[in-house]
Amino acid sequence: MPEGDILHRAARTLTSVLVGHELTTGELRWGDLGGTDLTGTVVTAVVPVGKHLLTRLEDGRTLHTHLRMEGSWIIQPAGSAPARRLTRDPHVRAVLGTSRHTTFGHRLGMLDLITTADEATVVGHLGPDVLAADFPGAGLAQALAAFERHGDRPIGEALLDQRLVAGIGTIYMAESLFLRQTYPWAVVADVDVPSILMTARHLMARSVAAPTPTATGSSVRGTQSRVHSRAGKPCTRCGSPVAVAPVGRPPRERPAFHCPVCQTAGRER
Ligand SMILES: [Zn+2]
Repeated sequence: MPEGDILHRAARTLTSVLVGHELTTGELRWGDLGGTDLTGTVVTAVVPVGKHLLTRLEDGRTLHTHLRMEGSWIIQPAGSAPARRLTRDPHVRAVLGTSRHTTFGHRLGMLDLITTADEATVVGHLGPDVLAADFPGAGLAQALAAFERHGDRPIGEALLDQRLVAGIGTIYMAESLFLRQTYPWAVVADVDVPSILMTARHLMARSVAAPTPTATGSSVRGTQSRVHSRAGKPCTRCGSPVAVAPVGRPPRERPAFHCPVCQTAGRER
């Protein structure tokens, strides 16, 4: 599932091609929104909030989207062969185009058109975005207060709870806990939450700035994570096989990749 770094990358690209431009195409292929035509309105901002994206329009509305499991935003030159092909793709859920570029919301998992003043109805439940400009300022303080209220939950599960902090998924949960040598099932009250959250932010911000998404700083295939999706492969620190086991309560369990030898912080109470 795309995490906050992917959303920030998408927002950056969509901002560069859409913001300040009048839409020459504005088509939503989503349930009741199927007849919506956004042509003629101007995009004023594209704002990531955790794993959500808010595309604000001059007419006072906001297009709210979520990539869910396998969604993405694809940008093509207007009128190009790939753009013509994507226009016919049944998995495209939104088409926002200007005279120069056409953007395609491909396999989106959520789409709403709401009044900009009502954005809180779709993102108000989220904790602070770990990549927001005011994190580590007000955002970190707010997240720490929320984690403190969930002191008895496993840290791996709490990091994935978007109500406590927004943007972290299974990749950055696993990678941050590995770097902090923390056991994913240690309870929140027993681990160094500020260090873990700042590690997640650092890794994700570096991924946003990198040529391609990466949790390690390396863009070389196979070296973009230390533990995530590396079950059975040697730990980059101690050489023991990386393990994977579920965190979270059914039916919302998610895989926690980890090194059983290195990640001992918080393990013993
Ligand atoms: Zn290890």
